Amino acid sequence: MNLAIFGGTFDPIHTGHLEVARAARREYFLDRILFIPASQPPHKPGRCAASYEHRLEMVRLACAEHPAFVASQLEGPAGDGSRNYTIQTIRRVAAHLSPHDRLFFIIGADAFAEITTWYRWRQVTMEVEFIVVSRPGYTLDESALPPGAMVHWLRSVHSNVSSTEIRRRLENGQSTRGMLPAPVARYISRSHLYRRGRVGARRKAAVQ
Ligand code: ATP
Ligand code: MG
Repeated sequence: MNLAIFGGTFDPIHTGHLEVARAARREYFLDRILFIPASQPPHKPGRCAASYEHRLEMVRLACAEHPAFVASQLEGPAGDGSRNYTIQTIRRVAAHLSPHDRLFFIIGADAFAEITTWYRWRQVTMEVEFIVVSRPGYTLDESALPPGAMVHWLRSVHSNVSSTEIRRRLENGQSTRGMLPAPVARYISRSHLYRRGRVGARRKAAVQ
């Protein structure tokens, strides 16, 4: 079996993520892709805009339409409040694999460029095969590759969708058409997510 881990904050999950996953599945004959939202992303300072529960639910909704995509709680909140590190996630997943299985790790070019800042990054690069996906505005820098790392380059994705841009648009009441899977867009609207800025802006306008 070819299994892949696809981690992120997914705050929220968007059509760019799905395009990445679809391209990786096609290209590397992946049988299953585990979408793993991080409850406490170690690589991202500051807090997420939406709670872990909301982000996980949105990942579930996005994965529901694709038989090979699975929403995973492997990086859910730890009982003792400790952080989840990628190396632990990889080892937990690898523990269930058979000798002939292959374990991939899907990652965008922006995130891969920072891999040397990850906890135990050398081990990480030895224990999975990376699928590094192109992202507009970021280059795939092969010279930065750690020696011994197994890296595949997937250059066919040209999505410029990002969660940051989606959050910004939602805060400003702008359209996110084409950026969100329909069930996720409905969930965001129903749950009043990513509206803090709007409420704040309205309040500010009222006191001026
Ligand atoms: P944010 O703007 O909040 O950082 P994001 O859109 O980058 O959100 P993440 O949850 O941070 O989404 O990303 C999870 C993974 O998906 C990362 O490896 C990231 O590089 C990759 N990724 C996200 N969007 C794209 C995209 N449009 N093209 C290629 N890779 C992407
Ligand atoms: Mg990101």
